[in-house]
Amino acid sequence: MAETAAPETTAGPPPPDGTAPEPVDEPAAPPAPAAAGTDLYPGRGPFAAVLFDMDGTLIDSTPSVERCWARWAEAEGVPLERLLGWHGVPARAIAAALVPAERVPDAVRRIEALEVADTDGITPLPGAAEALAALPAGRSAIATSCTRPLAAARVAASGITAPSVLVTADDVTHGKPDPEPFRLAAERLGVDPARCLVVEDAPAGLAGARAAGCATLAVTTTTPPDGLDADVVVRDLAAVRLVVDDDGVTVVAA
Ligand SMILES: [Mg+2]
Repeated sequence: MAETAAPETTAGPPPPDGTAPEPVDEPAAPPAPAAAGTDLYPGRGPFAAVLFDMDGTLIDSTPSVERCWARWAEAEGVPLERLLGWHGVPARAIAAALVPAERVPDAVRRIEALEVADTDGITPLPGAAEALAALPAGRSAIATSCTRPLAAARVAASGITAPSVLVTADDVTHGKPDPEPFRLAAERLGVDPARCLVVEDAPAGLAGARAAGCATLAVTTTTPPDGLDADVVVRDLAAVRLVVDDDGVTVVAA
């Protein structure tokens, strides 16, 4: 069942005279899930292609990411709390913000080596294999903030079958939240970004997708729904089904 991005139920606006709002006896009901088969993007699809983020969207790499960045921070003398809030951003941009400029190239090499070597526990997320398998060649791509060697290591560790179009941090000048990764993925597929759906778990990726003119589907695997500004928000890819015909990809509630 899809958890669509319905507005949160509240007790309603406060009365105009400034008195306390009416007490609410019942707890707020969760948003009604869309019925199975409901088109989640009425009037917007079908999409020419689906552009997937990788970490947190298709695969769970969180344990590896946390282990490696904690080791990196210790070696670089960076306080652990300064690692918060960077999810979905390329390592080079994170390092550039956290260590002196002259140390950035070495710091980037070090985190890359740690992460390529430590892929323990990387697994596909629910619905990821089915979503990838539903899309024929030319209708899907991955746009990741990983470098190419790291993306290859994580794809292999997770066992997912990656699409042939795989845009990495090594392919772009500006990573997420810049729109360049998604624009390049669409270009390599030969489609208009405005006819693409981006699936993301991170605010930085969603910002890049919106800036590229793509429709957005957020999964709440790593970030709570109220932190995700997307056209539709679901728990994970198991909540949707991708239906392909000659016109493109329609996204329906599972
Ligand atoms: Mg991600």
